Amino acid sequence: MKVLGLVNQKGGVGKTTTAINLAAYLAAGGRRVLLLDMDPQGNATSGLGLRGAEVGLYEALEDPARAAECIRSTNQSGLDLLPATPDLAGAGVELADDPDALGRLLGHLTQYDLVLVDAPPSLGPLTVNVLAAADALLIPLQAEYYALEGLAGLMETVERVQGGLNPRLKVLGVVLTMFDGRTNLAQEVETMVRQHFGDLVFWSVIPRNVRLSEAPSFSKPINAFAPLSSGAAAYKRLAEEVMSRVEKI
Ligand code: ADP
Ligand code: MG
Repeated sequence: MKVLGLVNQKGGVGKTTTAINLAAYLAAGGRRVLLLDMDPQGNATSGLGLRGAEVGLYEALEDPARAAECIRSTNQSGLDLLPATPDLAGAGVELADDPDALGRLLGHLTQYDLVLVDAPPSLGPLTVNVLAAADALLIPLQAEYYALEGLAGLMETVERVQGGLNPRLKVLGVVLTMFDGRTNLAQEVETMVRQHFGDLVFWSVIPRNVRLSEAPSFSKPINAFAPLSSGAAAYKRLAEEVMSRVEKI
């Protein structure tokens, strides 16, 4: 089992959209995938049509032996979800002194090939738990002028965790999202990000595509909602790149 955390303390950069659609394509490729909704806002949970679950990640963290009963299957074969419930909003306080809570839970979920964790937009205790438990991180960056702003803080936190809580933590890659190829700005941002991060940046770039923003209101990942869209093609390619990198860690 490999655990991939989708992290960026900025909100609205495409973490959840990437988590859902990447998870769906990885599952479509034959992997047993669990998506873990670690954001109290629960966007991954509602995007898969599973809001309203009685038990979820919070309860599973409290009692990992009960994890199986907190997991929901989705309308995608091979893709399960550990949903966010409203209780998760209070978990930050409890997890502040317990960075290994998620790691203990993952020890009970070994039936999956891949666990994708959709992190909240902060560097607080929930995200620290993700960093402490993950094998590798995927960092979505919105292709806009301020894309790199705030990343220094994330990288410092990653290095601190690598030096203590989780020495095996790797950065799997950086993915550019919401790319609008019609603008010079987006292309300049891509050049800048590739100069800064080199080979860490995935070749697959996710275009701005209205189908990607519509899919959650139909409770479907993009492969089921609009398989011929540019967004679907991009996430399919990204899933292939992610798999080839995951096989090397
Ligand atoms: P985060 O989880 O980082 O806060 P989201 O994935 O929720 O970001 O994306 C923020 C908003 O942008 C959402 O409304 C989402 O539907 C939209 N969005 C994300 N990626 C794209 C894209 N490639 N094209 C169009 N809209 C997108
Ligand atoms: Mg999100």
